[in-house]
Amino acid sequence: MDMVLASGNQKKLRELTEILRPLGIRLLPQSELGVPEADETGLTFVENAIIKARNAAAHTGLPAISDDSGLEVDALHGAPGIYSARFAGPDASDADNNAELVRRLRALESNSAAQSAFHARYQCVIVFMRHAADPVPVICQGSWEGAIHLTPQGDGGFGYDPHFFARDAQCSAAQMSAAEKHRVSHRGKALADFMLVARKTLQTTN
Ligand code: IMP
Repeated sequence: MDMVLASGNQKKLRELTEILRPLGIRLLPQSELGVPEADETGLTFVENAIIKARNAAAHTGLPAISDDSGLEVDALHGAPGIYSARFAGPDASDADNNAELVRRLRALESNSAAQSAFHARYQCVIVFMRHAADPVPVICQGSWEGAIHLTPQGDGGFGYDPHFFARDAQCSAAQMSAAEKHRVSHRGKALADFMLVARKTLQTTN
């Protein structure tokens, strides 16, 4: 079945497409269907994921799936959190955001006892809406615990991956293969939950 992906992030699209392919779902990026970006005015990942899915379903008439995700760093009181994509400003690139993360953590490092790693986790909320007025969106969540290292490693993945080292892992998320990352990541976990309810939900949708 066709479903619109309520995100303009090409790298997210690639990760989600690979994970959802076994379910027979063809994901159409909203950018190819002329859907304008929704204003992420929510204060939680859940609210923003619903806003994005509703916007994409309303503009296309298709069922919509959205992913709202981000990084929480304990030493930064949970920042960048829901602002992860725009940590360094409204049109920030991954490189800009990573530079901002390192800048803020270095400032802390020089003020306190030397810390080479900072506890952090990725959060992901996946929302599926059968239509724009769906009163019971499917909401699935996953998190991935780890630590931020100030020196980046690897060039795979996206976003903060070069700085994110999963707990017990000897490498950064950017050094993992796509399949390895899916098995353990916040997005992989949220989508695994989604797969459990998807068959029933999709039957209702058809
Ligand atoms: P969103 O598109 O508004 O949900 O913003 C998500 C942002 O969180 C991305 O732009 C990245 O900065 C960050 N993020 C989410 N998931 C990941 C991941 O798997 N790896 C690296 N960064 C991520």
